[in-house]
Amino acid sequence: MIPFLDLKSINAQYREELISAAARVIDSGWYIQGQELKAFEQEFADYCGAKHCIGVANGLDALTLTLRAWKELGKLHEGDEVIVPANTYIASILAITENRFKPVLVEPDSATYNLCPVKTAAAITSKTKAIVAVHLYGQLAPMDEIMALADQHQLLVLEDSAQAHGAESNGKKAGNWGHASGFSFYPGKNLGALGDAGAVTTNDDELAQTIRALGNYGSHKKYENLYQGVNSRLDEMQAAMLRIKLKHLDSETQRRREIAKAYAQGISNPKLMQPISFNSVSQSLSQHVFHLYVVRSTARAALQAHLTAAGVQTLIHYPIPPHLQQAYASWNPHVLPLTESMHQEVLSLPISPLMSRDDVQQVIAGCNSFQVG
Ligand SMILES: *Cc1c(COP(=O)(O)O)cnc(C)c1O
Repeated sequence: MIPFLDLKSINAQYREELISAAARVIDSGWYIQGQELKAFEQEFADYCGAKHCIGVANGLDALTLTLRAWKELGKLHEGDEVIVPANTYIASILAITENRFKPVLVEPDSATYNLCPVKTAAAITSKTKAIVAVHLYGQLAPMDEIMALADQHQLLVLEDSAQAHGAESNGKKAGNWGHASGFSFYPGKNLGALGDAGAVTTNDDELAQTIRALGNYGSHKKYENLYQGVNSRLDEMQAAMLRIKLKHLDSETQRRREIAKAYAQGISNPKLMQPISFNSVSQSLSQHVFHLYVVRSTARAALQAHLTAAGVQTLIHYPIPPHLQQAYASWNPHVLPLTESMHQEVLSLPISPLMSRDDVQQVIAGCNSFQVG
């Protein structure tokens, strides 16, 4: 069986480097808020082209603490409307409701799975104060248009870059487009730690300081607390692991793009809808980081069974949209037909940087031999 993502083998490539970095941390005697974190924050800020990077405990906290910081700074208030794509992973929305803002779910562009500038503009009211722009599956949301809307309506833009480390458009990377950007380093993300970790990038000094304080008990100075903060820190061990992984991120992304290109060119079955970006393969290959390679089929269950029988593991991102989750039962019945149909059709093919040429061909052959009925 071709595994969906073989994390063990991915990390095994760097085993010696990871072990010596771990030993360095163990021997340092310093495990929280030390040199490894400081170095990683600088390296990741530089990688994204942003002025600041603030390590936090996970991707959800990166989003939640950024929105909270804007509240502490008086830029957002409880009850404000925040636009977010309806088909995102639920964490983008949890960060909004945790802060008692009102999420306004906008149907995505059916071709890119990302926010659509026209539908986003139509959702803006006098109460709208922010947009959470998710770069879903590894492709940037249309940030030029979103930032133009934000300027026009004086909205804050938080990128959810959890799936888009290194994705770019016009030479500008995820993490450097919005007023701030939240990243996850969950092990299965393109830049993955060996445990939980996350970060915020921003060019805003005041915001950076506030997030840093909020994640450290609200303390900006030892034993002095400006805010009723939380404990959300990226520890030294994970920072050390991430410094190693970051060095290899671009080559892994390159490999993901090669696999995506082979899929785009090799899968010819009209029963499968491929990610749109392949209408302009070369452009999209230089921008998309292919956290996921998502195809669509109206006969998804049959396609998934067929691929399993062909030795190909697939996953669904995601089977139930946030607005139909029990957690948000108060919104039901909230009708978002496009989002709902996408959730019934999407299927993610394996796209592990370690797949062999034969593996890739096996996936393509499995897709092409699928017949409906
Ligand atoms: C993974 C993910 C998150 C949450 O990150 P965690 O580190 O798991 O908390 C948020 N948004 C999106 C789009 C994600 O894929």
